[in-house]
Amino acid sequence: MRKQIRTGIYEPKRCWVGETQKISYDTREEAEVAAKVAAYDHGAPALSVYKCEYGDHWHLSSKTN
Ligand SMILES: [Zn+2]
Repeated sequence: MRKQIRTGIYEPKRCWVGETQKISYDTREEAEVAAKVAAYDHGAPALSVYKCEYGDHWHLSSKTN
């Protein structure tokens, strides 16, 4: 489902992974930048970037193990 937003706010693409909906990135570089921004903004540990098994794009994964 694609929803057009008129406010000009960028709406990231999403992908269903199992039972969760994750933001998807077209390139590894884009995902890595987003991971760094998230770590900086939230003081969170670095997120790992991985290739989606369902499509030609990338996701971020928090290491919880
Ligand atoms: Zn995906």
